[in-house]
Amino acid sequence: MIEVKNVTKKYGNFYAVRNINFEVKDGEIVGFLGRNGAGKSTTMNMITGFIEPTSGEIIVDGYNIDHKPKKVKSQIGYMPEGTPLYSDLTVKEFITYMANLKMIPRKNRKEAVKKAIEETGLEKVQNNLTKSLSRGYKQRVSLAGAIVGNPKILILDEPTVGLDPKQVIEIRELIKSFGKDHTVFISSHILPEINQICDKIIVIDKGEIVAVDTPKNLEKNTTDKTVLKVVVDDMNNKFESLKSKVDEIKQIKFVKENEDKSKEYLVEASSENDIRRKLSVECVNENIIILEMSLSENSLEDAFIKLVEDRKEYSQKEVEKMQYDREIEELREEENKRKEEKENRKQAIKEEKARKKAEKEAKKEAKNNKENNEDKGGNE
Ligand code: ADP
Repeated sequence: MIEVKNVTKKYGNFYAVRNINFEVKDGEIVGFLGRNGAGKSTTMNMITGFIEPTSGEIIVDGYNIDHKPKKVKSQIGYMPEGTPLYSDLTVKEFITYMANLKMIPRKNRKEAVKKAIEETGLEKVQNNLTKSLSRGYKQRVSLAGAIVGNPKILILDEPTVGLDPKQVIEIRELIKSFGKDHTVFISSHILPEINQICDKIIVIDKGEIVAVDTPKNLEKNTTDKTVLKVVVDDMNNKFESLKSKVDEIKQIKFVKENEDKSKEYLVEASSENDIRRKLSVECVNENIIILEMSLSENSLEDAFIKLVEDRKEYSQKEVEKMQYDREIEELREEENKRKEEKENRKQAIKEEKARKKAEKEAKKEAKNNKENNEDKGGNE
């Protein structure tokens, strides 16, 4: 599990990340979404221990990265942004080099490298120089470097950036397969690239967390419309006329005609109602055959844009005021804690005094009783 608690990273007066809090639970695949410059790499670099937070705490698998950096680093496989590979090494040499860096014991190293190569489908190119590989394969090598030694947690910074759509799908499938026995934290600036594989999405903007939710809820809570992508076989060109038959439909937009003469449309509707059922019934009535009907990824992208676009930009003065208020609040809390400790100490002294007094009195009474008894004994 990764716990990020009140973490801030400042460069001079600039907040790259400001007071962020979130958790990535064991076995989850969590997406970290934000525009370029939002603070994703900074956060990931802090979790992996490459840079130190200005304030706050990061706990990985129960260990505070500040106190146990080696222990934390051994739990994490990190794929940094931009696939930094050593181009004069072969694929196998690079992964072995990463295994050395991770201090995988010599006797297990060969096996660990072999396993990482297999898991990322690099067997055929393992003896090729990394510089000769396509972008997609380079990305796989970088992934292999992250998973070698089977770390519990994988942190992947923009793993699909610069890939063509086919490569994106391949890498996505690979990451999904890692999710079965790893905790995965993966960043992206493009929502559709990660929404399909993530259990949860954390949205960061201008250094602050603006939403933590499932991809589905994220869309539901931020858009006031549903957009369906529908592909139909519609010989009589009736599909657009369905707008007047289903009340919830606001708009039907023609997108393209495919080679097989099927037509693709985007159907925009009010979000409260799932109009898929009604639309299907109307299509049957009009002899329209639905070949495909799915929630459009555009609407998810809209949700994300809405979340970050509506956010207020703080002036430097406001930022300083917020920081000042926070510092005052911290001082106040410290002062209260000190007062409480003082009060506890006072109480303890008081109780100790009372205990001693009671002890003294008990002794005195015991002595008196003894003397009385002796007197009585003497008189008899
Ligand atoms: P992302 O990964 O989301 O694109 P980054 O975490 O790389 O964003 O950067 C967040 C912000 O912090 C950006 O505005 C960036 O310019 C700034 N930043 C990052 N590293 C440094 C640094 N070493 N010095 C100054 N500013 C930095």
